[in-house]
Amino acid sequence: MPFTLLIHGGAGKITPAIMNKQQEAAYSAALKEGLDSGYSILQKGGTSLDAVVAAISCMENDPLFNAGRGSVFTKKGLNEMDAALMDGSNLAAGAVANVRNIKNPIVLAREIMLHSGHVFLSGNGASEFALSQGIEMAPDEYFFNQARYDQWLEIRHTNFTQLDHKADNLKGETLPNPGHKFGTVGAVACDEYGNIAAGTSTGGMTNKRFGRIGDSPVIGAGTYANNATCAISCTGHGEPFLRAVVAHDISCLMEYKGLSLQDACATVIKDKLVKIGGEGGLIAVDAKGNYDFCFNSAGMYRGMRNSEGKELVAFYG
Ligand code: ASP
Repeated sequence: MPFTLLIHGGAGKITPAIMNKQQEAAYSAALKEGLDSGYSILQKGGTSLDAVVAAISCMENDPLFNAGRGSVFTKKGLNEMDAALMDGSNLAAGAVANVRNIKNPIVLAREIMLHSGHVFLSGNGASEFALSQGIEMAPDEYFFNQARYDQWLEIRHTNFTQLDHKADNLKGETLPNPGHKFGTVGAVACDEYGNIAAGTSTGGMTNKRFGRIGDSPVIGAGTYANNATCAISCTGHGEPFLRAVVAHDISCLMEYKGLSLQDACATVIKDKLVKIGGEGGLIAVDAKGNYDFCFNSAGMYRGMRNSEGKELVAFYG
């Protein structure tokens, strides 16, 4: 069976105007590294689940992305992270929300899936479980990033929350100078056994309210995988993605209405989500290795490699 890996590093106002050559080179290298980490596992006969965890862990360790080490700051000046992982072969899932000082939240999501007897843990309970399982922790300094801190300082006294590449308040007014932003990470994969998996990890939104949870860790909203349909990882403004239950909606269009992967993704991202003002995108794969990148934003950091020799790293629409 052919195998395939797709990754994203966030969607939003990513245009040539906000990127210089140096930034383009840095994002290309970071995305390639994420692809290498996951793809080498598929190449050695590893599973889609392991490939997804490896690709996401690699991007969580890179401060360029808003996940793990590079997570944005909340209204209280803290880093609170969300992540989820789903195995399409058996519908097993693990998710974590509002955790601090966890080096790789996606690894904790896998541990929750495999060893907690639950699907979703949050806050102190998730941290306690992480400690009991020997999950790697990191001090506050590890998560400190001057550029992200400056982003937060700019808006900390406002009601603005800043998405990875766009800044607006609840009325949809956009900040005059949103600057250069960074993104959530995700991966989906199909392995040589025809099993698919999806994962997503994020620091959420700059200046988000204490305790706010986005779509990324919510199974069916930002992350979903089912061998019978598709594996999906979303990125964008989390609230509309939650309300549209994006990832599971796409799976349902395939399962109950027989839509192709591409048509199902387009229906939700380019129509349903747009109608409720949702901006962002996703990566998707099915158990035959068909894949799609779909976004309604100006761009999405993204990459793909498959066993047929296809490879791509791209940013813009
Ligand atoms: N969807 C994420 C959230 O709302 C943000 C992102 O994708 O950049 O938390």
